[in-house]
Amino acid sequence: MSLLNKVLRSKLVSTTADIEVQRQDPNSPLYSVKSFEELNLAEAVLKGVYGMGFNTPSKIQETALPLLLGAKPSNMIAQSQSGTGKTAAFALCLSPTLELAQQTGKVCKQMSKFLDIKIAMATRGEEHGRRREKKVEQIIIGTPGTILDWIRLKLFDPSKLGIFVLDEADVMIDTQGHRDQSIKVHRHLKKSAQFLLFSATYEDRVMKFAESIVPNPVIIRLKRSEESLSNIKQFYIRCQDRQEKFEALSNIYGTISIGQAMVFCHTKKSAQWLAMKMKEDGHAVALLTGDNSPEERMFVIDRYRSGKEKLLVTTNVCARGIDVEQVSVVINYDVPLDGRGIPDCETYLHRIGRTGRFGKKGIAINFVDSDRSFNNLKSIEKHFGRKINQIIADDPDQLE
Ligand code: ADP
Repeated sequence: MSLLNKVLRSKLVSTTADIEVQRQDPNSPLYSVKSFEELNLAEAVLKGVYGMGFNTPSKIQETALPLLLGAKPSNMIAQSQSGTGKTAAFALCLSPTLELAQQTGKVCKQMSKFLDIKIAMATRGEEHGRRREKKVEQIIIGTPGTILDWIRLKLFDPSKLGIFVLDEADVMIDTQGHRDQSIKVHRHLKKSAQFLLFSATYEDRVMKFAESIVPNPVIIRLKRSEESLSNIKQFYIRCQDRQEKFEALSNIYGTISIGQAMVFCHTKKSAQWLAMKMKEDGHAVALLTGDNSPEERMFVIDRYRSGKEKLLVTTNVCARGIDVEQVSVVINYDVPLDGRGIPDCETYLHRIGRTGRFGKKGIAINFVDSDRSFNNLKSIEKHFGRKINQIIADDPDQLE
């Protein structure tokens, strides 16, 4: 417990000065040489952006926006680390999950507050009575299935759309269901529509595919060594079995005094089991999986965002994109594996990227309960070339 306390205390205290230092470092994703005024934004958008408390653009905003808004609009495949402000670099999009679409919708609404622009949300659970009305909004944000339904029902005319954005683009073009639906939507658009892809990760294979479907893209790509963020410190704890993992989590719960935690499990079943055990132990935890109804999902994430629970137990459904500023600790209750049981480096990076938002400090803790999960974690460590230190009671110096 005291060791955990030490980790949490020593690694989490950050100040605004910290972020200013990152802004001056050309290697940081927050580095900028320009101001928002220099980015070709309309006056009313600038007002919206400043109203959100943004003073200067991040690297991805500074790079992408002038290219997207230039006289000759280009297609783009962009990569930028998690939490570096990709949402503010696009304005119309397909997202892989309900929560993420909702979140992007909110950002868009804030940003366009001083513009005469309306936004439609195409997600399940929205729009109760209005489902079949024609859409008059200029921007549509949603998940692929609902957008396709709207196209089939002729609720809007896709040939009128000027910009098509895939958020979390690598999953949108690589996982089968999403890929088929995204490509179907794309086929309905006019040829001249701008096509923009954003993500923090692209496996080489997926980048190749992206390049084959986006005509003449401007490509913004990170080096492997830049992908993982230095403001997120990574650790692991060795546990004997499920029970010990549970005890480790209870200990962490007891030591979190700064911010909130997100816990990722491999399956819905194990997430449900864990949340139930934690509740039985008297902890206030939130549970969010794909088994919840759309209404429940929105309710749970809103409660968590507002700080009602300190800990959210979830699955990969929340691994990407979700921006909750105060998340200070991410726990991989299970090391992420893909469908073939191979360590999933991209998902790992997205999961830990739920903390350390926009330069803040964050901690990621991995639970390792077998030689196999240890080896899986080691291969993730090797992939990114960034140390994952063991939290071990008799060697506290390791943490320094
Ligand atoms: P990403 O999509 O790259 O994961 P987000 O767009 O969710 O990241 O942004 C992460 C956080 O940083 C959000 O809370 C957002 O409000 C904040 N943010 C984005 N751009 C700026 C900026 N230029 N200045 C200050 N904060 C910003």
